[in-house]
Amino acid sequence: MREIVHLQIGQCGNQIGSKFWEVISEEHGLNATGMYEGDSSLQLERVNVYFNEAHGGKYVPRALLVDLEPGTMDSVRGSRIGALFRPDNFIHGNSGAGNNWAKGHYTEGAELVEQVMDRVRHESESCDCLQGFQLVHSLGGGTGSGMGTLLINKIREEYPDRIFNSFSVVPSPKVSDTVVEPYNATLSIHQLLENTDETFCIDNEALYDICFRTLKLTAPTYGDLNHLVCMTMSGVTTSLRFPGQLNADLRKLAVNMVPFPRLHFFMSSFAPLTARGSQQYQALTVPELTQQMFDARNMMTACDPRRGRYLTVAGIFRGRMSTKEVDEQMLAMQQKNSNYFVDWIPHNCKVAVCDIPPRGLKMASTFIGSNTAIQEIFRRVGEQFTLMFRRKAFLHWYTGEGMDEMEFTEAESNLNDLVSEYQQYQDATSDLDLGAEDEEEEGPPSPVTTKSQSWVEVQLETVNETSKGTEG
Ligand code: GDP
Repeated sequence: MREIVHLQIGQCGNQIGSKFWEVISEEHGLNATGMYEGDSSLQLERVNVYFNEAHGGKYVPRALLVDLEPGTMDSVRGSRIGALFRPDNFIHGNSGAGNNWAKGHYTEGAELVEQVMDRVRHESESCDCLQGFQLVHSLGGGTGSGMGTLLINKIREEYPDRIFNSFSVVPSPKVSDTVVEPYNATLSIHQLLENTDETFCIDNEALYDICFRTLKLTAPTYGDLNHLVCMTMSGVTTSLRFPGQLNADLRKLAVNMVPFPRLHFFMSSFAPLTARGSQQYQALTVPELTQQMFDARNMMTACDPRRGRYLTVAGIFRGRMSTKEVDEQMLAMQQKNSNYFVDWIPHNCKVAVCDIPPRGLKMASTFIGSNTAIQEIFRRVGEQFTLMFRRKAFLHWYTGEGMDEMEFTEAESNLNDLVSEYQQYQDATSDLDLGAEDEEEEGPPSPVTTKSQSWVEVQLETVNETSKGTEG
């Protein structure tokens, strides 16, 4: 068995993480106390990837719940699935991080981190063959962001040969009112760049837009946003949790998806999109699912894939459907949009089909993409960072915890480098690379100007709206 140890930290991490466990428990046929009540042997075949089997046939999440204050974890404990988790694995402080990355990373968080590491060791040691770790957190606050990245570094140091995967929630002013979020996010990305193998970027800006525009919710709550997140998390972990060949573990996922170590930030999407509570029993078709999963409007990151190019893609279809049709549709999608896939990685779009659909749907699809347009998120955060940092606004909160201004400068330039690297690979073509040394010719016209009629063209309107929306 190849086990994963899960960590959720901070308010956002615990809220999203708990939803994730609620959803996957149901998918594996487990009730709210971890007892199996399912109806298919497929549900148990790989249940050990995420669950430990305890006495009396109870399945227990291999999860650590961490926070610097007790509130959010008390709510998890008191929730419907509170009894699912191992009580020892709730670890909290009482001080809080006050949205200050420095408190999470250097002061308050550093005091609690050894306690967490003890539980990490405990869970890891009882694994048969640990494949790696996943951490769920936000980048905009203090605990998930500051202490979350401290934990990643500690675990990385102790388990250098295991894969580290994070689900990282990117802040958006549309959703939160804290002004220092760009600082916290930039300092975190600086750490994620070096110390995770794969990071799923979950962008609150995109979640808000999906709720508002597609689901027509006029005042989306975190519950609504988190519903989208856990559908996506359930989707992207499908191939880890159910039998199948493609991306069957975290390492295979990384090998397929990450052509360069720093470029490990993924976009993801889900289809069909449905509002919380409104389940859709009507079956969609494979062509519709394929079209939607590549649609900019379904992306959980506010980036337009049409402004970048795909380095790699993995699609996961769930439910009963014809594998042949899935293959045909995905191939057709690539051929029609070949300009949006880099031509120097052949066969960079992979597909898997899993028989078990998510709850309440007959069919669904999830998409994982490494697209150079993800730089738009980093630009957005970086610009907000620079505006404040130029005037050293709010800096005393961080230096007051002992932080050096230098770390801000380094984080800023690391983020800028990342943006340039994405741009560089967006512009690269196989022709240019092969001929670069001996011929000095203009390369072929940029893919952006030669783009053919494509699936994304249809969404021009929506995208313009998106960019306007960010100003307001
Ligand atoms: P921490 O407890 O110190 O880690 O702080 P938070 O997790 O509250 O971090 C604040 C950031 O997380 C802001 O960008 C919030 O918009 C976001 N956030 C907080 N709770 C949630 C949640 O439940 N869902 C989502 N999607 N974002 C959240």
